[in-house]
Amino acid sequence: MWYMNEERELMRNIAREFVEQEVKPQVMEIERTGEFPLELFKRAGELGFLGVTIPEEYGGLGGDHTTLAIILEEIAKSMPVLTVAMGAHSLLSGGLISMLGTPEQKQKYLLPAASGEIILACASTEGVGGSNQVEYTTRAVADGEDWILNGSKVLISNIGVADAYVVLTVTGEKVDPATRSGMSVFIVDKDTPGLEVGKHEEKLGWHGSATGSVSFKNCRLPKENLVGPLHGAMQAMFVSSTDEFLSCGPVGLGIAEGAYEMALNYSLERIQGGQNMFDRFQVTRHKLVKMFTEIETLRALVYSTYANRDEGDLCLAHGRMLKVKGAEVSEYVAREAIQLFGGVGTVVDTGVERFWRDGKVLAIGGASVEALNDHIAMMIRNKMV
Ligand SMILES: Cc1cc2nc3c(=O)[nH]c(=O)nc-3n(C[C@H](O)[C@H](O)[C@H](O)COP(=O)(O)OP(=O)(O)OC[C@H]3O[C@@H](n4cnc5c(N)ncnc54)[C@H](O)[C@@H]3O)c2cc1C
Repeated sequence: MWYMNEERELMRNIAREFVEQEVKPQVMEIERTGEFPLELFKRAGELGFLGVTIPEEYGGLGGDHTTLAIILEEIAKSMPVLTVAMGAHSLLSGGLISMLGTPEQKQKYLLPAASGEIILACASTEGVGGSNQVEYTTRAVADGEDWILNGSKVLISNIGVADAYVVLTVTGEKVDPATRSGMSVFIVDKDTPGLEVGKHEEKLGWHGSATGSVSFKNCRLPKENLVGPLHGAMQAMFVSSTDEFLSCGPVGLGIAEGAYEMALNYSLERIQGGQNMFDRFQVTRHKLVKMFTEIETLRALVYSTYANRDEGDLCLAHGRMLKVKGAEVSEYVAREAIQLFGGVGTVVDTGVERFWRDGKVLAIGGASVEALNDHIAMMIRNKMV
């Protein structure tokens, strides 16, 4: 592939070996129990996967974004949910600390996060709607040198296992979407009095993402826990969350490839009337060709966008496009894969229908594709693309 080089190939091989030997044997168990894949997450940390783009001085590999994409793609081919936990930890939470944090905050949180020693969660969404930040009510109020935090967040990934929560809160008199002001980010350590973690939601897909609510009752936070400028979080999050949206490209690609590979193998092995399905039915062949074409089209978009990201482009529009396209292609390919399997495709133990469920959630978790399309439209309108 045009985007590979010696270093990236090395990291891809390490990821492949990790998936083959450690991830694959646990896939169906995690799917069934919905338990957070803690052991695998820690191993991902040991292998450097949680800090690929984090500078070496903060415990990361100081690598490029394309290498991260290659690793995510490999893992998502087998266990998409592990990449989701990695994204919430390294890209959403770590991304904010990396972009806005003080050197002390980076030492305290980013450094151990890069190795998986601690786990981070990013808590933004509230019951009034993920992109409806104007109506958020989780608020931090100054009290002397400290801040007092009250409110609650819903559908937050990595709850319970997280050692610290990176929380979007209202601090201004009002939240102004036009100037993106009025909100700030605070870090809340898991043992902060008043922090309460809800139950893990049972979900359609992303089994094992430890997703649920978290609430704050008079949580007292030292001023050192404010991340970045007071009232300036919305603008920062618009940029920092882009890396997480970007990651949905390689994750969607991996999901699609995982489902496609299973469907192709099945169509070559399933015999009817003395012939396998691939050779017997033109419709089977054409479905697989269309699935393959969608995968390769997504791959081109993913790695050309990541090449730009490595050149320093923030990819604000293309990052969002990757999330939208990654969700679309993964869901489409996985749906067709189920169809090609026939009845057994609907059986959980076959292990193919889970790809469709994970692709479906990819279109919502972290930000809905509709809201992201609105962001892209705004950028097109303002000729920013
Ligand atoms: C498995 C999972 C994990 C998650 N993890 C996290 C996490 O770690 N941290 C976190 O903060 N959040 C997380 N979320 C929450 C997620 O970001 C929100 O679910 C998402 O932003 C959508 O918000 P909502 O659920 O409130 O839906 P709503 O905002 O109520 O949306 C309902 C419908 O209206 C549409 N809509 C909403 N706004 C717009 C708009 N501006 N333009 C066009 N259409 C719109 C939506 O697309 C959707 O179809 C997670 C969600 C899931 C499902």
